[in-house]
This record gives sequence, C-alpha cells and structure tokens, in this order.
Amino acid sequence: MSDAPVLDRNLFKIFADNPALMAVTSMPERKYVEINKAFTAKLGYTSHDIIGKTVFETDLMPAADIDAMIEAVGQAGGISSRELRVKAKDGSLHTLLFSGNILEEGGNKFFLMVSVDITGRRSRLTRGGTGSGIAGEKNSRAELERLFSLSLDLLCIADRDGNLLKTNPAWTEILGYAAAELASRKYRHFVHPGDLDATLRAMERLAAGEQTLSFVNRCRAKDGAYRHIEWRARPYGKLIYAAGRDITERIASEERIREIALRDPLTNAYNRKYIFEQLEIILAEYKRTGRVFSVALLDIDFFRNINDQHGHQAGDFILTEFAALLRSNLRPYDLLGRYGGEEFIVISPNAWTEQARSIIKRILDKVRNSCFVYNGTPLGFTFSAGIADCFECGPDTLSAGKTIEMIIEKADSRLYKAKRTGRDKIVPWRVTVGRLHTAGH
Ligand code: GH3
Ligand code: MG
Ligand code: MG
Repeated sequence: MSDAPVLDRNLFKIFADNPALMAVTSMPERKYVEINKAFTAKLGYTSHDIIGKTVFETDLMPAADIDAMIEAVGQAGGISSRELRVKAKDGSLHTLLFSGNILEEGGNKFFLMVSVDITGRRSRLTRGGTGSGIAGEKNSRAELERLFSLSLDLLCIADRDGNLLKTNPAWTEILGYAAAELASRKYRHFVHPGDLDATLRAMERLAAGEQTLSFVNRCRAKDGAYRHIEWRARPYGKLIYAAGRDITERIASEERIREIALRDPLTNAYNRKYIFEQLEIILAEYKRTGRVFSVALLDIDFFRNINDQHGHQAGDFILTEFAALLRSNLRPYDLLGRYGGEEFIVISPNAWTEQARSIIKRILDKVRNSCFVYNGTPLGFTFSAGIADCFECGPDTLSAGKTIEMIIEKADSRLYKAKRTGRDKIVPWRVTVGRLHTAGH
C-alpha cells in the first residue's frame, strides 16, 4: 500500500480481500497506486512490478486497448463489463471482464478498476470446445478476416506515414486495384490533387492521436476516375485504422437535386433565391478584388397580348424560347435568372454597363428579327431592359443586401424608363469622363 492512502480503512479491507482483481490508478497521471491480492495472485506480478508505473508502462495491456479504454471512460465517465485481454507475468493471456469508475477522495481523482477473470468461461464458449486460448485467438482472427473481406467499405491499416499495410477486397471492387498494387504504396498517391492538402492535414491530426469521424476526399480509381470517399479513421499505437465509404452516387444525386432546386422548372433559368445568393458572392468578390459586374433586367414587351391572343401555352413557349436564346447568346459565366413572370435577370461578371449593354443589344437585335413558331403560328416579340453595374454600389457602409437591392432598383427604374419611352430598347447607365448620365440606346 502506498504512503498516502487512497482508500479509507473500511474500503481498503474490502479492496484488499476482494476475490475480484482490483486496481486503483491516479488521475490524470494514470499511475497504479493500489492493486489487491487477487490481482497479484491471478496475474503473477508483485506490487513492485506494477505500483508507481503508468498504465502504459506495464506489460498488462497493449497501448491500443488502453487508449480505447481511456476514450470510453472519457466519454461515459466509466466503463462496465468490458472484455479485455490482459497479459500475466508468465506471458499467458487472461480474459477479464472489466468495470471501472472515477473516485474522488480529498480533492484527488482516482480510477478504480474491478475485473473478473473469465478466461475459462471464454474458452468453454469457444466453438469446437478446444478449451485452448490460442485456438480461441485463431478463431477470432479468422472471424475478423472474414468480416474484413466481406465489408462493402474500404478498410485499411496504414502506418503513420500513410503506407498502406493491409487493404480489404473492397479496394478492388470500388477502386479497381488488386491488393498487390496497393501494398506499401502511400495512400496520398491515390488522392485527388485538389484534396491533397486537406488529406495531409487530416493525416497529421491522426498521427497526433486524433480520430477522424467524417472526412471526405476523392480517390483515384484504376481507370482514372475519382470516387468520393468518406473516411473514418483512428490511430492505434503506430498504426492508423481507417474505413472509407464510397459516397460518389450520393454526392451526384445531391448535386442533381440541388441543381433542380436552383432552377425555374419552366425555363430552366436560375431562380431568384439562387441569383441573390450569387449576387452576394459576386459583390463580395468585387469589394475584395475589384472584379466588376453588371446586372440587367429584361422584360418582354406586351407579353399579356401573346397570352391573350394565342393562349397561355403559347406564352409558356415564348418564355422557354426566350430563355434558351438568352442562354445561347450569353457568355458561359454570365448568370441567367427568372426574376418574375416574363422578366429575366442577367448578371455579367467581368462586365460593366458598356459591355453588358452590347451583349444585351445583340440579343435584342436577334429577338426582334426572330420568328418563334408555335403550333404553326409565327410569333414575334421584343423586350425592354435596364442595366446597372458595380460602380453604383454606393458607400461601403451599406450592407451587402442593401447594396444589391439598390443596384437592382436602379436597373428596374431604367427598365421602367425603357417601357415608358417606347419599349424595345435598353436603358443603361453610361460613364463619360467625369460625368454621369442616363441615356437610351
Ligand atoms: P409590358 O410591355 O408593360 O411589360 O406589358 P406586359 O403585358 O408584358 O406586362 P404585364 O405585367 O401587364 O403582363 C405580364 C403577363 O405575364 C401577365 C401574366 O399573366 C403573364 N405571365 C406571368 N407568368 C407567366 C407564365 O409563367 N406563363 C405565361 N404564359 N404567362 C405568364
Ligand atoms: Mg412585360
Ligand atoms: Mg413584367
């Protein structure tokens, strides 16, 4: 018993004479401060072998098992009826049923472990009735191998430098590599260049002892395609154990759903919500890097007449045709949104009013000279447009939302002016040296 008694006299009597194997460790040092007679008798150690050493310094358990136990205690404040394999002094393995709890005594914290030796019971349970610990171990190894090869997920054991030491057949099924092609290759070799930095950082965290719960990266399959893999990994001793789930399909369908949710179903143009989100991003980029942008609002002239004279279906047809024509005449990085019924919004990055005006003007000329045939009937239309650009942002003190609202309002009042002054035209904001003025096209 150590100099400073951890357990009071009564408790110590219970402790010392208990048939269960008991030990007390100090916290947070995790040094053994007490072990009882059953402990020394069953496992063949003397107090001297154990007392004063940390749980990692004795030969009782592999570090990985201790880590797992510490983690369980950390999460639940204690453990109960956990099976652990403990090495006796003569090297034989004992299966112990373990429970443990944190004790507080005089402001100090201790961890009390109580365990029952179930080695005999375990071997009687063992199939084939061999009764031998070694055979039991072989069986459980074979069981683990079988599970390892059955898993739908990528499973691997790697060293801390990321060399793949063991991989399961899912690597062949998912990524197409044979086990021999993976053996001792560095895992990073298979990672998408765009995900490499994040992957290396995740591996550093693992090497520092942290576990990874859901880290996603892209891994190159043998055919050169990339698969999105969600990883869960944990370091044990010098090794890293990892399980990876192929979530490529899930990501693709999420992306499809997201795409659908962003768009107006009739015209396939982006919806207002998405356009406003993008405007915020584009505005922030303008403020950060000076990358200019402009916003144009386009409204079909006398659209009500098309509906009234040819029916709502014809109106829908015109909306679809107009959106398609816009899309095919805008630059790939311009954004087309459906702003309202027959009103569209075009956001043009890298263009201020002048460039936007010439793009929209070209489209207006095309529309004016096009004939849209619906059910054999030729339909024609024109549109009016108002343009505003980033140079009209106003003071920096305005919020992003207010700034965007203001720019759109300016485009809208110019659109209104185009309508008022005859339609079939674009009203931009024009900058001439030192002077600002609004003009028709
Ligand atoms: P203006 O030149 O002043 O823009 O006149 P307009 O007739 O185009 O404008 P107004 O705002 O009076 O009418 C717009 C019409 O667009 C009214 C509405 O019924 C129609 N509309 C809105 N959404 C749709 C749609 O999805 N399909 C069809 N077919 N019509 C729509
Ligand atoms: Mg209209
Ligand atoms: Mg309108």
